[in-house]
Amino acid sequence: MHCVGLDVGGTKVLGVAVDPADPTSVLVEDRVPTPGGGEGLLEVLLALAGSLSSDAQAIGVGVPGLVDRAGTLAMGPHLRRMQDVPLAALLAQRSGRPAVVDNDANCHAHAEHVAGAARGHDEALVVTLGTGIGAGIITGGRLLHGAHGFAGEPGHMVVDPNGPPCPCGRRGCWERFASGSGLGRLARDAASGGRLDAAVDLAGGDPEAVRGEHVTASARAGDAESQAVLHAFAGWIALGLANLVNTLDPGVVVIGGGLVDAADLLLPEVERRFAELVMAGAHRPVVPIVPAQLGHRAGAIGAALLAATPP
Ligand SMILES: [Zn+2]
Repeated sequence: MHCVGLDVGGTKVLGVAVDPADPTSVLVEDRVPTPGGGEGLLEVLLALAGSLSSDAQAIGVGVPGLVDRAGTLAMGPHLRRMQDVPLAALLAQRSGRPAVVDNDANCHAHAEHVAGAARGHDEALVVTLGTGIGAGIITGGRLLHGAHGFAGEPGHMVVDPNGPPCPCGRRGCWERFASGSGLGRLARDAASGGRLDAAVDLAGGDPEAVRGEHVTASARAGDAESQAVLHAFAGWIALGLANLVNTLDPGVVVIGGGLVDAADLLLPEVERRFAELVMAGAHRPVVPIVPAQLGHRAGAIGAALLAATPP
């Protein structure tokens, strides 16, 4: 028995077929480009699912955006042509199999809960730090969906009402500061102020071309200015995590997404700042902040698992 999981990203759709009893042993994996704006996405998903398995028990899909409880994408900045389309119902109808559609970070969190760094925790927070910020909340041993399916979007908690504009249409969202793009912005601010020469060199000499990976590379090589930028960045991550832990009281915080590659550089400072920022830090158990374990396939694996046993 096996299920197909598809993780729709900004540029590619990653698909896997897995046995739900052994989800980290991926049976088949493939990827195709994400159609621009989501035009024709249903056909792309059906074709990829069919190529991964002709006899899957069910199909799960993770999409970036707000997905309602019926599996309709209500809002997705990269998939505007698919908004308000009943994607789960259409997938089920066209494939002849049960289909589940959920937010991509929820899928990621579900996989980490079943088979990764949040395993064994009935209360857990999984935050993905990539180009933006996604999150999934496990409570009572299950994914929290909220009244409408839209729970778990802390990337759009406003942490500075006068901050930089966000693709969601507002200003100063947490993901403008604590995602990979937030790190890039912090780094360019430092570089244009004449600091961060090592990272500017890695970016070909142009301060405006500095991105997060240049800063992490030069920090790893021992550059003190790059390490200072990473410490400031860790403070923004810690600020949001402290707000979330104050709200949810999880037993573990799992950090996934592209920035997990820099976990060794970031997490010690995140932990230090978090301990200062969380309410009553000296009077509550330490909440472990740990890297995710399932890597880039977590979202697809989680989508397959959600399809196997729908929430
Ligand atoms: Zn926002």
